[in-house]
Amino acid sequence: MKKSYAVIGLGRFGGSICKELSREGKEVLALDSDEDKVNEFKEIASDAVIADATDEAALKELGFRNIDHVIVAIGDNIHASILTTLILKELGIKRLTVKAQNDYHEKVLNKIGADEIVHPERDMGKRIAHSIISSNVLDY
Ligand code: ATP
Repeated sequence: MKKSYAVIGLGRFGGSICKELSREGKEVLALDSDEDKVNEFKEIASDAVIADATDEAALKELGFRNIDHVIVAIGDNIHASILTTLILKELGIKRLTVKAQNDYHEKVLNKIGADEIVHPERDMGKRIAHSIISSNVLDY
C-alpha cells in the first residue's frame, strides 16, 4: 500500500517538505490553522485543510490514525508543537518527525516519543560551514 504523509505547519520548513513530497508523487495531507497558508497548498498537496493541530477530535476526524508518517513543523509555538506531538503519539502514528526550536524543546519531544527531531536552521548552518571548509581546502 502507498505510504501516506501529513505535514502540520506550512511555514518555510513545513511548506518546503510538503512541496517536495508532493513533487515526488507522495500522498500528502497539508494542515495549518492559517487559511491563507492552506489555500497556497490546495493545488500542491493531495489534500489541504484548516485545523488546529492541538484539537484531538479534529485530528481524529481527519483520519490521522491512518497516516504513516507525520511531520510536525510548528515553529514558534512550542506549546502547540508539544501538545500536537503528544496527541499524535497517542493516536499511534508510526513515525513522527518534529521540528525543535531549542534544546529544551528537543528534550521534551524526546521524552514523549518523537521518532526524529530536527533543527533545520542549526543543521543547515553546520552543513554549510562544512561545505565552506571543504571548498576552502580545494582552493588552497
Ligand atoms: P518557518 O521557519 O518554517 O517559516 P516558523 O519556525 O516561523 O516556520 P511558525 O511560523 O511559528 O514557524 O509556524 C509554522 C506554521 O505552523 C505557521 O504557518 C502556523 O500557522 C502553523 N501553526 C502554528 N500553530 C498551529 C496549530 N496549533 N495548528 C496548526 N497549525 C499551526
